[in-house]
Amino acid sequence: MALIHTARDVVAPDYSPKLETVLQTAEFDRPTLVVDTDIVAENFRALKRGLGDAAVHYAVKANPHPEIIARLHAEGCGFDAASRGEIELCLAQGIRPRNISFGNTIKRERDIAFAHQAGITLFAADAEEELHKIAGAAPGARVYIRVIVEPNGADWPLTRKFGCAAERVQPLMQLALDLGLEPVGLSFHVGSQTRYAHMWSDTLAQVARIWHDACDAGFDLTLLNIGGGFPGYYGDEIDGAEPYAADVMAQVRALFGPEPQIMAEPGRSLVANAGAIAAEVLLVSRKSDTDLHRWVYLDIGRFSGLAETEGEAIRYQFETPHDGEETGPCILAGPSCDSVDVLYEKRPMPLPLSLAAGDRVIIRGCGAYTSTYSSVGFNGFPPLDVRVI
Ligand SMILES: *Cc1c(COP(=O)(O)O)cnc(C)c1O
Repeated sequence: MALIHTARDVVAPDYSPKLETVLQTAEFDRPTLVVDTDIVAENFRALKRGLGDAAVHYAVKANPHPEIIARLHAEGCGFDAASRGEIELCLAQGIRPRNISFGNTIKRERDIAFAHQAGITLFAADAEEELHKIAGAAPGARVYIRVIVEPNGADWPLTRKFGCAAERVQPLMQLALDLGLEPVGLSFHVGSQTRYAHMWSDTLAQVARIWHDACDAGFDLTLLNIGGGFPGYYGDEIDGAEPYAADVMAQVRALFGPEPQIMAEPGRSLVANAGAIAAEVLLVSRKSDTDLHRWVYLDIGRFSGLAETEGEAIRYQFETPHDGEETGPCILAGPSCDSVDVLYEKRPMPLPLSLAAGDRVIIRGCGAYTSTYSSVGFNGFPPLDVRVI
């Protein structure tokens, strides 16, 4: 099996013979994500070179495998956790609490207390009630206020659910002060899989207005958390990690000046290209004699790791043992008895005509948001297996 497209020229670090060998030769009895932590480490270094003096906190939810956490920790990365479970995972790897932020704006009060007792001092909030919870359970904590930003065309937007409108920022900061908290700055998320650095400009301008207004009003802001959004490679051209990050940082410094401490929370870009899923074709069929498409059913689907195919937002690349042969359009679906478990239908996927049940299919760029999205056992299918090499 040859690599039909390669990310090497665009974004990915060196091709990994280790990963290829396991993908091509290992036996798997169920869909398995194979992750090469050397690639994760290289991704981190490239991003860090571009980000310069910004603190990098890996968004654990992208892929919480303990060996990935340990490897990033060894590289000097910090961590952004969204729950007590993610905090415990980081602490178990020996990560110091001061290198962990609790960045979910929706936290259980008991979990805030747990984080506080563990020594974590940096929390996100976007609502009054959340500030009251933090003040009660983590007195004196540093908080940053998450703001809503307009969608920028990211492939996987993270708007609306999180953040507050601009006019809410200063009242929340004042409340934080009144409650004895330390409102240190702002955060936002530009939208996951923001393919080009120039797509950040509108968002950064919005946030800069809010930032400068708050500074003019007398708030002492020292921390800007620029969130995630750095892209992974899925076949469409993207900027390389280092120039992309450098471009974003140049925009940030131009708008916010040299003083603020910058923090970034990349998830996808550190792990996406470090992993590929080995899956299997279960059935190839046509629904009628005149059907123009074949239906290809895999042993992995929407509920067993490929949730980001929702709305066909993330389009993975597939490799088969027949690559290079003639192809035809396929509707690609998962194995469960649920009719939404269809991966690609609006834009069918060209796959070799000779594809048949039993063929191994390798799905590229699956290191991020796959294992964490896999259900425990919907329809009796086991969750995605993960093998770290
Ligand atoms: C998910 C998430 C991230 C990571 O986003 P990516 O687009 O994967 O880099 C960062 N920050 C927060 C608050 C998140 O929820």
